[in-house]
Amino acid sequence: MSTHSELSDIYPNAPEIVIVKSHRVSCAGGQGGGASALGHPKVFMDMGQGSSVECKYCDRVFVLEDGADHSESGH
Ligand SMILES: [Zn+2]
Repeated sequence: MSTHSELSDIYPNAPEIVIVKSHRVSCAGGQGGGASALGHPKVFMDMGQGSSVECKYCDRVFVLEDGADHSESGH
């Protein structure tokens, strides 16, 4: 069981940190509170070789869940 508080230390500017199970994520904002509440055009992001990606619109950070498969699927 990992502690999400550590992620807040890594991403101090992130309004929200979302744990995901896939390298490919989408974000449209508007699902949380604060600055991201207004939402933005839906965008898809890929973590590539990394394990996290930051939304350029709302600064939310998506982090790959611990234990998730790091290998590329369908390739
Ligand atoms: Zn966003």
